[in-house]
Amino acid sequence: MDLLSPIQYIKGVGPRRAFLLQKLGIETLKDALFYLPVRYEDRKAIKKIINLSFGEVQTVSGRVLKTEVHPASPRRPRLKLLSVVIADDSGSLTAKWFNQSYLAKIFKPSQNVIFYGPVKVGFRGNGFEMMNPEFEIIDDEDEDTDFLSTGRIVPVYGLTEGLSQRQLRTIINSCLKNALPHISDPMPAEIIARLGLPGLKESIEAVHFPPPEMALADLNSGTSPVHQRLSFDELFALQLGLAALKNRETAQKGISFGPTGKLTGQLLERLPFKLTDAQKRVIEDIMKDMKAPAPMSRLIQGDVGSGKTIVAFVAMLAAVESGYQAAIMAPTEILAEQHYLNIQGMADFLGLKIQLLTGSKKEKEYAAIASGEADIIVGTHALIQEAVSFKKLGLIVIDEQHRFGVMQRAALRKKGMNPDTIIMTATPIPRTLAMTLYGDLDYSLIDELPPNRKPVDTKVVRESQKDSVYEMISRETSAGRQVYVVYPLIEESEKISLKDAITGAEALKKKFPELKTGLIHGRLTSAAREEIMRDFKRGEMNILVSTTVIEVGVDVPNATLMLIIHAERFGLPQLHQLRGRVGRGAERSYCVLMNYGGSIDARKRLDIMAKTNDGFRIAEEDLNIRGPGEFFGTRQSGLPDLKAANLLRDYKLIETARKEAFALIDKDPSLSGHAKLRRALEDFWGKKIEIFKTA
Ligand code: ADP
Ligand code: MG
Repeated sequence: MDLLSPIQYIKGVGPRRAFLLQKLGIETLKDALFYLPVRYEDRKAIKKIINLSFGEVQTVSGRVLKTEVHPASPRRPRLKLLSVVIADDSGSLTAKWFNQSYLAKIFKPSQNVIFYGPVKVGFRGNGFEMMNPEFEIIDDEDEDTDFLSTGRIVPVYGLTEGLSQRQLRTIINSCLKNALPHISDPMPAEIIARLGLPGLKESIEAVHFPPPEMALADLNSGTSPVHQRLSFDELFALQLGLAALKNRETAQKGISFGPTGKLTGQLLERLPFKLTDAQKRVIEDIMKDMKAPAPMSRLIQGDVGSGKTIVAFVAMLAAVESGYQAAIMAPTEILAEQHYLNIQGMADFLGLKIQLLTGSKKEKEYAAIASGEADIIVGTHALIQEAVSFKKLGLIVIDEQHRFGVMQRAALRKKGMNPDTIIMTATPIPRTLAMTLYGDLDYSLIDELPPNRKPVDTKVVRESQKDSVYEMISRETSAGRQVYVVYPLIEESEKISLKDAITGAEALKKKFPELKTGLIHGRLTSAAREEIMRDFKRGEMNILVSTTVIEVGVDVPNATLMLIIHAERFGLPQLHQLRGRVGRGAERSYCVLMNYGGSIDARKRLDIMAKTNDGFRIAEEDLNIRGPGEFFGTRQSGLPDLKAANLLRDYKLIETARKEAFALIDKDPSLSGHAKLRRALEDFWGKKIEIFKTA
């Protein structure tokens, strides 16, 4: 038996349990070892009932005396209360559960049980009670000789129906016994020693069954030394992969651009505004990279409205000046179309050929790209289709990166000969986290908004306040300004949300017959959408009703009111993006979030929106509400899953891991002197990325 043996080989795991374990992602012994507890309970001390203290969470053990289900009170006959009385040799205690009568069948008189829960004073002030305690039943048949579940710090795992904590603890314990001897530590011993981290075997064992002296709080927060060791291993492997990727890229020969300043100079001269210092600094970063022979990979981060587009456009012109093509890839057709229109508008006086490419089978467009007739190509992921080939692709810009994974980035890059790459993202994430998600990239931050930007006035309203919203629409439009009305796009029922948007547009037309109201949604052809967007941009339309297709990037400075219907259905980043569509001109702008009643989390989201315009703060709050897993969607980003590490909690460890990893790759780029580590690394990254070219 080795680490990759199927879990079914473990005693007590038959096909049925193997199937259940598979649901938890456990297929091999190794999977089981890294299936970490979600929390721990200190059940070292089993208290005598007589010694319990009120108000504390404690463990008792005793024998079931009586089980009873009755209505909770005469006034609430439907609410059922289950009470179970247990006793040890010192006294008795009543455990109570509301509306869980099915538990009544589980407890049988004279059975031995363990309860773990908050201790209260009993009804009428006498005796002890526990509300909704966790419990274990000590059957005699299924004897737990290792005492995995009592008298120790006990791991609590995520479960699936049909599998109990006790069973899973027993299985994981057997896996440990079988697998630990096969574990050998691939990490450089010198690094682990220097960081003062515990050994690997010891850590794996203790993370499941901690020795009694370990601090419960550290275990539960995942900051115990053994958690940190396992987290470090993952983060190190992650950063090592990124370091190797980056090393491989920069070792390649890229393009040394020789921009003449002819086009960029003309552009900047005609610009109706002055670049911010932040924009200038980032453009400088980019120019330095472009002139250097190593291929550029640079992440440009900047909040909504910070003016990333112009920065990208300057870079593209610098590439064209140097005799290359430049391409920009956007996540949606609408956004690609908008970039196209924008760039087209500026390109007029520059005498350039801009080519839009969305969708497939566009022979004419392919020809223009392949012949080099097109200087700047604007598109969606249609750009990475096989049929597309460029004459001389020198620079790639990827807009709103969070929609694209590492793989798509690589695919577009292959269309050129080591082209320079700029990735732009509006997802404000703390720097250490950016280093993880985009760890193979250099990083520039546009940390300044164009001057005179006023924060968008945001308020949350109920449907009953519709009239005040109508007043705002009328006020803004009669001042010659424009309004967005956004409906949520619900993926499962696109039809319903479309219907909502259509009905909403009809209602607005009726209410404001003198205004021009347009409707845009994903079902329209791109030509139709383009026309609507163009009308709106030109100010020929007062109100634009849409599903979330306008979410990212759309830029109409004259729009000053953003009305979001069913705002409770949107996530924070989406709301922030949407709000970023207004407040782009000199006029004061407003965002109205119409709340139809959502969860507590939804309410929190809307309150945050009303409180702040700061993208970084919003992102932090979002992390707090959603937790890092969902926030980052590592699967989407193309990074390996992390089982032990937590990108938020372990930010210090990320920095350490990154320093160590980059230093190691610097010394030993292909890890030829660290064979074991290299194998572990390839295993960690799996097929996601070919880290070391198998020559
Ligand atoms: P984002 O970073 O969200 O992509 P955009 O590039 O769309 O932002 O820019 C938002 C708006 O700000 C656009 O109308 C753009 O023309 C304008 N803008 C960009 N830079 C400046 C600046 N330095 N001064 C004034 N307005 C600017
Ligand atoms: Mg943008």
